[in-house]
Amino acid sequence: MKHLNEPSFRESVDLMFNRAVALMDLPPGLEEKIRVCNATYTVRFGVRLRGKIQTFTGYRSVHSEHMEPVKGGIRYALSVNQDEVEALAALMTYKCALVEAPFGGSKGGLCVDPREWDEHELESITRRFAYELIKRDLINPSQNVPAPDMGTGEREMAWIADQYRRMNTTDINARACVTGKPLNAGGIAGRVEATGRGVQYALREFFRHPEDMAAAGLSGSLDGKRVIVQGLGNVGYHAAKFLQEEDGAVITGIIEHDGALYSDEGLDVEAVRGWIMKHGGVTGYPDATHTAEGAAVLEHECDILIPAAMEGVINLGNAERIKAALIIEAANGPVTAGADEVLRKKGTVIIPDMYANAGGVTVSYFEWVKNLSHIRFGRMGRRQEEARHQLIVDELERLDRHLGDAWVMSPDFKQKYLRGAGELELVRSGLDDTMRIAYQSMREVWHGREDVTDLRTAAYLVSINKVAASYRALGL
Ligand code: GLU
Repeated sequence: MKHLNEPSFRESVDLMFNRAVALMDLPPGLEEKIRVCNATYTVRFGVRLRGKIQTFTGYRSVHSEHMEPVKGGIRYALSVNQDEVEALAALMTYKCALVEAPFGGSKGGLCVDPREWDEHELESITRRFAYELIKRDLINPSQNVPAPDMGTGEREMAWIADQYRRMNTTDINARACVTGKPLNAGGIAGRVEATGRGVQYALREFFRHPEDMAAAGLSGSLDGKRVIVQGLGNVGYHAAKFLQEEDGAVITGIIEHDGALYSDEGLDVEAVRGWIMKHGGVTGYPDATHTAEGAAVLEHECDILIPAAMEGVINLGNAERIKAALIIEAANGPVTAGADEVLRKKGTVIIPDMYANAGGVTVSYFEWVKNLSHIRFGRMGRRQEEARHQLIVDELERLDRHLGDAWVMSPDFKQKYLRGAGELELVRSGLDDTMRIAYQSMREVWHGREDVTDLRTAAYLVSINKVAASYRALGL
């Protein structure tokens, strides 16, 4: 995806890392220890399918074990390669540190086009890949906990969890070996949409700070802001949907693999998603202008650009022409190091990937804790909370009767106030809190240091400091 002559994805991540450590005062050698990938395991395995043995190549890379387990998704795509998996593993280290999810960073990938195989075949492939990783403790509740990424979802995670259980029949914590599972297989409410929800919470927090908005030349609220989304997969779809339905943002552009849709009046995210599900792409969708060369729409005028697909889509080939005031990196690594430099000079504000898409791993963390504690969040406290609220409502109703028309409760107050928080409400509350606090830690550095002029460098500084502190605590 990157432009010719640009460094690889991993080199791009390292360049951005280096820019940040140049501003830090780390003990000699620690910078290199943090930057390098600890280990990458490559596996080639055969699965008998369609009358012959098909050979697949997969990876699991462990970037940093300053905290264990290490965490990060497993990607299914033909483009998966070692460089990419290592770059993504490094980003996981920084991401987890930034949002205080107590994990090291890891990532996995399998070179496979999931659309080429039917469900039964994909199950055989996934189970075999999982088997190879499990027997080397590269999937393990206390050492390495995968999750969904591009091309994988709840279904694959359920197969992996089941495979682990079959191979570890007496492990009481078996379910915590992977996150992003379906609810009925030990998953948690709100995980599917977590990354998109995190993007929404990140933008809401950004828009709470007039000074930050001003840096991007924006003002007001999310209401009416023109947004272009690249990729209507799990992350892009949920982010766009929530921003449209709950914050009044206008989704003017949607870019997909077969072109882009554009409408000044705004696109109906749900309708476009429905169209893609039915027709396999955006081509033919009514009520919008279709451009076959989708990437061109990245360069359209808008307030907020949300790249939510692949790495390297904003590169030296198009960075100069990007007009968005604000870019929020819902994907991992969508802006190359070279493009980052160009955009910084232009004054574009970029909310960096390691923060913007951390909602997924944050809710994964909650799921892992749920699995280890063997109890759903809210199970103990919910009815107690409701009973205490009932006491207050009863008292208010008594006053109500007493004071008559002089004092009346709003009609929906009682219903809203009486509802105790279930798992979904608690997950959202935890995610919202995480996204707010992490943003504030970045902006403190962004505004507090003369030598830091962008949020990405600030994010790196915050997270590298945290990783360095863990290493120091380990005596390194
Ligand atoms: N694959 C997601 C990411 O890149 C989620 C990782 C996780 O939940 O462990 O952050």
